Amino acid sequence: MEEDLERLKQRLPLLEYLQQHHWTPCRTGPRQEFVGLCPLHPETRPSFYVNASKNLFYCHGCGQGAT
Ligand SMILES: [Zn+2]
Repeated sequence: MEEDLERLKQRLPLLEYLQQHHWTPCRTGPRQEFVGLCPLHPETRPSFYVNASKNLFYCHGCGQGAT
């Protein structure tokens, strides 16, 4: 899925893509930042961060994404 995510986010805002795949943030931070469960690996505590203004994501659990 990570390759698809990389490819698709070039065409579509990352957050929109994730929401189309039923990802919902557990909490919302300042400046368009969202935190939720990682779609790329199984986890129970949210460690997947999305920055919608920069169109970036990073998972602290599996290390996918850009810092
Ligand atoms: Zn992950």
